[in-house]
Amino acid sequence: MNKDIDVAIIGAGPAGAVAAALLHRQGLRVCVLEKQYFPRFVIGESLLPHCMEFIEEAGFADAVRAEPSFQLKNGAAFTWGGRYTYFDFTDKFSDGPGTTFQVRRALFDKILIDEAAKQGVEVRFGHGVTAFDNSGDTARLSVESDDGGKYELNAGFVLDASGYGRVLPRLLDLETPSELPPRIAHFTHIEDNITSPKFDRNKILITTHPQHRDVWLWTIPFGDNHCSIGVVGTPDKLAGDSETVLKKFALECPMLAEVLADAVWENEFPFRSIQGYSANVKTLHGKHFALLGNAAEFLDPVFSSGVTIAMHSAKLAADLLVKQFGGEDADWQGGFTEPLMVGVNAFRTYVNGWYDGRFQNVIYAENRNADISRMLSSILAGYAWDTDNPYVAKSERRLNALAELVGEAQPA
Ligand code: FAD
Repeated sequence: MNKDIDVAIIGAGPAGAVAAALLHRQGLRVCVLEKQYFPRFVIGESLLPHCMEFIEEAGFADAVRAEPSFQLKNGAAFTWGGRYTYFDFTDKFSDGPGTTFQVRRALFDKILIDEAAKQGVEVRFGHGVTAFDNSGDTARLSVESDDGGKYELNAGFVLDASGYGRVLPRLLDLETPSELPPRIAHFTHIEDNITSPKFDRNKILITTHPQHRDVWLWTIPFGDNHCSIGVVGTPDKLAGDSETVLKKFALECPMLAEVLADAVWENEFPFRSIQGYSANVKTLHGKHFALLGNAAEFLDPVFSSGVTIAMHSAKLAADLLVKQFGGEDADWQGGFTEPLMVGVNAFRTYVNGWYDGRFQNVIYAENRNADISRMLSSILAGYAWDTDNPYVAKSERRLNALAELVGEAQPA
């Protein structure tokens, strides 16, 4: 086999960085090809505790903990009208870390890939992948560097961690539409100046809009008096320029209007929007390749599951590749797609239940049962692969039963 390296990874985001470090630690020759230069902006700032397990295993944890602007996160709070409730991730059904961080992704992603490089991973910034050929014994990638250079790289296997770039799904015609309706998010970073004791900086705050239950806002505090804030809904409801729409919807929500009374909205961070981000693919793997993170399926931002799913997929793929390069059989359907989809499908149940109202009714119900709350807390903390949790194993049935029991919630 005439190959330059064992594994080529397209993209240096969290999926690529974790996969690269885990493979390198097992003695494989890895090369990461990243089109941009870091730091670069990407949305997705609230992590889930389950991803700390991969950050730890990849050897990144000390560097992540050392960054003072990263805000400790120990749960998720929800507000709707006058109602306020929360899940404490340290009180959960599954084993594993109960805390994580809220991060500016430009900095977070740079820390991860720099740590991977320090460990010895080869990272080529400014190198974009333009074509893929898997007809031979190895995978052949065509690469263009931003100084105009063009070359080919032969790899034993390719992991596509290109996120919204979706390089292999586009090149191999693997894209399929998401079953979720297209939504848009308008967002920015603000100097929040929050002093209200009602606002818990250790939790993401998810706000349901008082009139439109399918419109919600995130408030993600960082460790330096700044927050990321965004509004999500269908394009018909959120039509207009990002600044006007975001401010309007935020100030219509009683708790946000109160805690953000002294916020400075205009600063160096622009108002932005992103839409049509939910995506799906025909397959997660094929000859000489597998898709990681957002390059594969992306559901919805409401439960901050993106980075955690990305890292979980990186870990599953890295473990299989170590077997494969060690000469063992690697079953990509049974050892990658199927186990990965356990968690993705559990999240899918709760995302669908959020938008059709069933899960919102459960979240905003008065007097939630403590044991059930611990099981839901586990899923919201990212432990959506723990099939000992009945709300993972039988997510749809359990959610339906619970939603029927609690009935319709009201915004107090
Ligand atoms: P990315 O982080 O997107 O990295 C992919 C990299 O590939 C990029 O650096 C890109 O430059 C590179 N690349 C692309 N094309 C090429 C090419 N041709 N050649 C070489 N390199 C290439 N997730 C959370 O966990 N928490 C949140 O709070 C959250 N909020 C979100 C809010 C919104 C509105 C949306 C839309 C998403 C949110 N997400 C959130 C999801 C999150 O953005 C992604 O799941 C996450 O960034 C996926 O990481 P990744 O490693 O797969 O890809």
